[in-house]
Amino acid sequence: RASGRLKRAEERAGAEAERGDDEERPELSVAEAERRLAAAKELRAGWESVRAAAAWPDALSWPEWADLVEDKLAPALGAAPDWTLFSTVLDELRSLGEVSARISGGGAERVPRSRMVATLADALAALSHPEGRFGRDGVTILSVASARGLRFPLVIVPGLEEGKFPSRLRQDPLVLDRERRRIAPGRLPLKSERVEEEKLLFAMAVRAAEKRLVLVASRLDESSDRERIPSGFFLRAASAARGAAVGYDGLTAESVPGFRAVRLDRIAPPDTVAAVDESEVRLRLVARDPRALPALALEEPALFAGPLGFDRARWERSLTPFDGRITARDLRAWIAARVGPAAGPVSASRIEDYARCPYLFYLKRVVELEAWDEAAPALAWEPIERGRVVHALLEAFLREFPGPGLRETPAEVLQERLRAVARARIEAARPPGIADLLWEIECDRLLEALERWLGFELERSTQDLDPAFFERPFGRLPGAEDQPAPSVTAGRHRFEFRGRIDRIDLSLDRRRARVIDYKTGKLPASMSGDNGTVLMAGERIQIPIYRSALSVLPEFAGVESIEGEYLHLEVNDGEIRARSFSKEELESAAARLPQMLEIVGDGIEDGVFFARSGGSVFEEHCKWCDFLRVCGKDRVRREERKAGDGAVERFGALAAIDGLERKE
Ligand code: SF4
Repeated sequence: RASGRLKRAEERAGAEAERGDDEERPELSVAEAERRLAAAKELRAGWESVRAAAAWPDALSWPEWADLVEDKLAPALGAAPDWTLFSTVLDELRSLGEVSARISGGGAERVPRSRMVATLADALAALSHPEGRFGRDGVTILSVASARGLRFPLVIVPGLEEGKFPSRLRQDPLVLDRERRRIAPGRLPLKSERVEEEKLLFAMAVRAAEKRLVLVASRLDESSDRERIPSGFFLRAASAARGAAVGYDGLTAESVPGFRAVRLDRIAPPDTVAAVDESEVRLRLVARDPRALPALALEEPALFAGPLGFDRARWERSLTPFDGRITARDLRAWIAARVGPAAGPVSASRIEDYARCPYLFYLKRVVELEAWDEAAPALAWEPIERGRVVHALLEAFLREFPGPGLRETPAEVLQERLRAVARARIEAARPPGIADLLWEIECDRLLEALERWLGFELERSTQDLDPAFFERPFGRLPGAEDQPAPSVTAGRHRFEFRGRIDRIDLSLDRRRARVIDYKTGKLPASMSGDNGTVLMAGERIQIPIYRSALSVLPEFAGVESIEGEYLHLEVNDGEIRARSFSKEELESAAARLPQMLEIVGDGIEDGVFFARSGGSVFEEHCKWCDFLRVCGKDRVRREERKAGDGAVERFGALAAIDGLERKE
């Protein structure tokens, strides 16, 4: 096609020449004439190249092809602004030689011309062309993969630390490498080969630098304050710069040309470089003489009030507005009216959130901050979604066999029906974008757990308690008919509850009941066996609230004895584990609940929202917290320093009231 176009251009040029001066033509400026002359020369050179291509060899190695293409095209196109970009494609052609040698384990592969042309065309088609400001002016922040084929005068590659770049090699826990080899030999990528991909990414990042390359390895892990060491890539780059192997100890400005260590505790840039903005000028003044700080604060009080207040608050032993205590009266009143005991019906989970971590409660319930959800293809089923499906399908299945239905129906019929109900619900809930194989694994796991659950239920179906009610609402739920609501008076507060009871089992004479709350995660070690309490220092109050609900719902008026249970369908392990509580345990918990709710109610109304990094149910609950990033890595130190504050000590009484401290 290219040669056809060139030919037509040449013919047109010839025809124009033949027309001579017969037709009227606008006069050309000198500049325009020069531009056309240059274009014509380029056209001619290109044409010559295409002609010469007819005599190109039939097969060469990849590096030889790259050299040949460069030799042929450079005279015509070497001065073009995009030649630099094109030369990255030639670099890629050259590097294919290395790849093919590694695969074949031998000498250079002979590549036919047609294959080279097709590869070149593919690479050119995938080339990203810097448009407008992007890549030409200003700073561009890109992932290494998206910088492919681009060139920049200066490239800075951060994160060259051990375990980060290259990233730590980890097997995919869902499909191990040996399983990948067995499922689709050669077609499923192996995680152990990831190191080669990382090397390629690093090479691409390095090649993107036209004039200057800065590799950065931080010695401090920002998220944990732990020390980090430079990665192998960083050390190899340092070795290349030095011309000899360099270890961690050898990373000094004296032994590695171009190496520079920057101290983290230097708050301002050195005097030898220009300050980029006013804040750097201020920092430089303070770094030179700390007495400049109060002087600057006098000069710009509005700017310095917050940071100086924050700095003072860090060292105080009591809670401050910077770390968990809201002092503004109107703000406290506003919060109390929105989420306090007087705000109307509350769910058990709202109280549990506060008891778990008051700061979490503040971010989630007051600020209504939500976790950022990246729109990416799902790699697994979100636990919360899976939980919803499990609740719905258990309800649908058990509604088909109420009362003695479970006991009286043959096990095979129940199994078949459960599978059918489950399959329909599971398939309708498939997360968008999840791979077939991963989805199959998720479904199999859940079906297996359900089968075990049915076995568990059948085994205990002789206990005189049959499933009778499912998702039974109580209190005032939005969008539903009002139901009687249980309430608890706690000091100056009155809490009115609302919610749904997952399941209520009843005895034949309807005098005994068991309230059940389903969970699809693991039963925490703090609650397994005889560990823990019904209330877990306020972090688990659903069962006692369900018990109170039964006392106000009319159909349970004759019930004399109520037991409770958290029933864990541990889908990932296929285990079914129940944590049951006797009538006496629930009664004792109900007696302790008002005291604990009083502390929660006072805390919310008094604006006490400090961060609590260790929970009663999960000791390291921050690991799963959506707000970990906004909470700050110094939260544990902050918590320790403020432990003597009256409000924090009062909060600590939750565990004491519940008898949890003594048990531990
Ligand atoms: S990260 Fe921990 S301390 Fe911070 S809000 Fe979450 S649970 Fe509370």
